[in-house]
Amino acid sequence: MRKRLWISAVTLLVLVLLLIGTQKWMNSRSFQFYGGIVNHVSTDEKVVALTFDDGPSANVEQLLPLLAKYNAKGTFFVIGNELKTHMEDAKKIVEAGHQLGNHSYSHERILIKSHAYVQQEVELTNELIREAGYTGEITFRPPYGKKLFSLPHYLHDKGIKTIMWSLEPDTNYTTVEDKVTNAVNGVKPGSIILLHPMYDKTGDELKVIQGILDALSKQGYRFVTVNELIQLGSDK
Ligand SMILES: [Zn+2]
Repeated sequence: MRKRLWISAVTLLVLVLLLIGTQKWMNSRSFQFYGGIVNHVSTDEKVVALTFDDGPSANVEQLLPLLAKYNAKGTFFVIGNELKTHMEDAKKIVEAGHQLGNHSYSHERILIKSHAYVQQEVELTNELIREAGYTGEITFRPPYGKKLFSLPHYLHDKGIKTIMWSLEPDTNYTTVEDKVTNAVNGVKPGSIILLHPMYDKTGDELKVIQGILDALSKQGYRFVTVNELIQLGSDK
């Protein structure tokens, strides 16, 4: 009886540890089971990549002139079904010299999903990114930053890089000032910063972006696309 109790306790413990492990892996910014993952690059140059997730949406109209003012190039991880309805915004992003990246077609968590599902999410969006006129290498950012087996396996198979981030001011802070401070204090040459201007109706996220552009420009940073950043990194 006591032995059986012990076995149950150990089994339970193993299950809990497995669950915790899985949770950690699927959210990890620097590890996945297949293929590489980029969350920053190693460089001595003062370069940083601003990445904008989701959309495109109407806020592109405000964001593009703001980036132009600081001679900044950004990377827009766009969603396929948004591209379909906002193709003109996507074209403007490309014309302004920014990078388009794939952020899935439907923005669902891609965890326990079939190969066919993953393929559809990636390929449909890649086709739309090409339709927008983007000709560079297409990288992928998982929706909600979550991935487990099928997604990394597919991306690795196709030679598509997974791009995460090293700074996420929106996650832990609520005010414009705190977000800017978090990004500016945490930045290093080669950092990748995650930002969310697309569905913001308050205008606050644009202020955050302006604050970051302003402070880092004064420190001598240049704002490059993720693909350019990888080229500049010593770990490419
Ligand atoms: Zn997203």
